[in-house]
Parts: sequence; structure tokens; C-alpha cells
Amino acid sequence: MNAPLLDFSVSKRFEGFHLECQATFDSGVTAVFGPSGSGKTTLLNCIAGLVTPDEGHIEVLGRTVFSSTGRTNLPPERRRFGYVFQDAALFPHMTVYENIMYGYKLTPVERRKTDPEYLAELFHLTPLMERSVTNLSGGERQRVALARALATSPELLLLDEPVASLDVGLRGIILEHLKRSWRELGTPMVYVSHSLSEALAIAENALVLSRGKRVVYGKTSEVLVHPDVSKMADYATLENHVEATVVATGEREGLAELKLGDVVLLAPRVRRDPGSVVMISVRAGDIILALDVPPRMSARNVLQATVEEIHEVGSRVLVYVDVGTRLVAEITPSALEELSLRKGLDVYLILKTNSITVLDAPDEEADSPS
Ligand code: ATP
Repeated sequence: MNAPLLDFSVSKRFEGFHLECQATFDSGVTAVFGPSGSGKTTLLNCIAGLVTPDEGHIEVLGRTVFSSTGRTNLPPERRRFGYVFQDAALFPHMTVYENIMYGYKLTPVERRKTDPEYLAELFHLTPLMERSVTNLSGGERQRVALARALATSPELLLLDEPVASLDVGLRGIILEHLKRSWRELGTPMVYVSHSLSEALAIAENALVLSRGKRVVYGKTSEVLVHPDVSKMADYATLENHVEATVVATGEREGLAELKLGDVVLLAPRVRRDPGSVVMISVRAGDIILALDVPPRMSARNVLQATVEEIHEVGSRVLVYVDVGTRLVAEITPSALEELSLRKGLDVYLILKTNSITVLDAPDEEADSPS
């Protein structure tokens, strides 16, 4: 049997705080979610080798990078991980190209899985390659940081709140790039965030921490509705960040057409060309479920969907539905009862165009072909 991506058990004490956590991560993208001060960064730093646990072990693909009993503690550079923080520090005296090349050149030829030109294309950086990194916007900097980290062909990419300092539109763009790079390069990622919406958008599995302890680890969609997570989650702010393909930009008609899974949505205008993939955001609470199509109404989107899962969490109900892609809707217990919703039932989703946000760059970043 293949060794798991990451197997760890770590204990680390600071004054007034004790991280004590064990988990085994499968390959893919794993989110580490928890409130502020729950120990997410400390755990990531232990994995990266920037913080030394007091006790425990950390193995990556069967390779021990830390063991308190075996007295192993590989320095960060020998762990072969990429690390991107919230405000990535780039080499200021270098161009975008030189920043990406830096890590690439340090990687032995036989371990290189990609090249800078490909990464520049993947992160839409090709037109910026000769630019000094001091002249970049926040979103561009994060894209360079991700490309630079991936240029080292890491076995694992560690991401600590990589979109937290960005505007909401740019967050979507970075998430879209991360999803694409996972699909194309297959580099496993550990994604630290205090946003459940981001975790749901990017990660198949999630580890939830609270006060330094593991609350739950499992499929993100299941973790999200775990009773102990519901106490710390604010479902009112839960959003679906999903990829859609531009069918029509709405340049003339005023409304864009976006293909989401098997359905086409009418949304506010987009600035991207037909065929391009955009991230859109829809609040779970803005999705209306209906058993029939209301005869006359103002909402423009009526989409056929199938109920996949229903979870009652506290005073709210989260319903996962399938429209060819998965969405989560938040309804009240009385609506659940009235509609007699159950798994496998065909329903309609009703959405106002204005409840769909196309996550796009603000005007000053719009020149970048992202
Ligand atoms: P946030 O979401 O706010 O970044 P977090 O979940 O990442 O929080 P950590 O940054 O890991 O949490 O911090 C967990 C606790 O450990 C906090 O109480 C923090 O003050 C403490 N801590 C972290 N690093 C150190 C350190 N080097 N020395 C002392 N205490 C520390």
C-alpha cells in the first residue's frame, strides 16, 4: 500500500497554548480550518520545519522529516516543500522571471517536474515576466509567489491563508489558479484558512482545529456540518465558490451567460472572453429551493437540481444539491419540513442574477489577462 501523503502527531507548547494534534492526510488538497489562535499556523510551521515540535513525528510519503524519538529534524530546505504565506515575500531586487527561476535553478534536474515558462502560463504571468516585483499588485504578487513555490517541484505545497489579504474578487482568482494548478501539476496542498467557504471550494478533505486540538478530520462537505464545527461556523456567511465557463459576456444584453456544471446561469456582466473559466460566488442563503417552477417571478435563474444530502445543524439546514457541480443551500427547518426534501429528490434552484458574484479583479488589475 502507498504511504499516506502526510502522517503526523505533534505536540508543541507555548505559554498558554498547547498544540496536540494527530492526523493522516490523503493526497489532494487538504484544508486546515479553525478560528484565530487555534494553532493552524503553528501546525503548518511544524510541518514546514520552521517550528520544532516538543514531541512527535512527521512523515511525508513515508519519509520521516521529524521524529523526536528518532532524533530526526530535517531543516526546511531538505523537506522539499513549497510554502506560501498570506503576504508572500518576493525577492525585491529581482524580476518576476528571476523570482520564479530562483527556486527552479536550486532544484536538481532529475526532480524537476515543471518549468518556469509553463508556470508563467498557468498563473497568467507571461506578460509580467520582465517586470520588477516591486511594481506588482497584491493579486499578481501572490500568483508570482505560487509560481515560485511550484518552480521547486515541491512534494507538498503549504499555503497559509494565501488569499486573506486580498479583495474578494482577487481571492476568487487565486482560488481558481490553485484549483487549476492542482489539476495540471497534481502537487498536493495543505491549505490553512479560517474561511469554510474557501475550504469547501478548494479542499476535498479538511482538518478542523480548536484550541490546539483536532476537532474533526474528514471530507470537507461532511466536516462542514459536524456538530462541533457548527458551533464555530457562521453559516450565514457560507458561500459557494465554484468554477463556471463564460458562454456570453453580456456585453450587449447586459446579462452574462455562465455554464455551471450542466446548467447555464444568467449573471451580471463579465469582463472575460467566452470560453474562459471564472470563479463565481453564491451565498448558500441566497439559493431558494422549490418543488415547482413558480409561474411568474422576477428571479432569472431556475435550475434543475437533485438533492444529495441534507444536514440539520442547529437552527439551520444545509442542503447539498447537484447541478452537475455541487452547491450548498441554506434553508430553515420549517422549509425542510414543508418541502419534504429528501435525498434523490429533483428540485428547482431559484437564484437572482444579482446574488451571483463573478469573482474578478478590480479595475486596476483588469489589465492582467487572468
Ligand atoms: P490565526 O488564524 O490568527 O493566524 P492560528 O490558528 O494560525 O491563528 P497560531 O498562529 O498557530 O494560530 O497561534 C496559536 C497560539 O500559539 C496563539 O495563542 C499564539 O499566540 C501562540 N503562538 C504562536 N507562535 C508563538 C510563539 N512563537 N511564541 C509564543 N506563542 C506563540
